[in-house]
Amino acid sequence: MNCRKCGGLMVAEKFLFTSIESRPWDYFGARCLCCGRIEDPVILAHEMRARFRHSKVKA
Ligand SMILES: [Zn+2]
Repeated sequence: MNCRKCGGLMVAEKFLFTSIESRPWDYFGARCLCCGRIEDPVILAHEMRARFRHSKVKA
């Protein structure tokens, strides 16, 4: 997997997500070794949904 921002190498990383109203949970994402960009399942799902909505409007 390569970084979409700089094309650098991304490594799988475990993140701990904490929010105020829900219990902490952890998940696996990816972090770029070059620029530090973080890709995580939540962001990816968001982007996919946004892209889908966008393409639907365009079609
Ligand atoms: Zn990068």
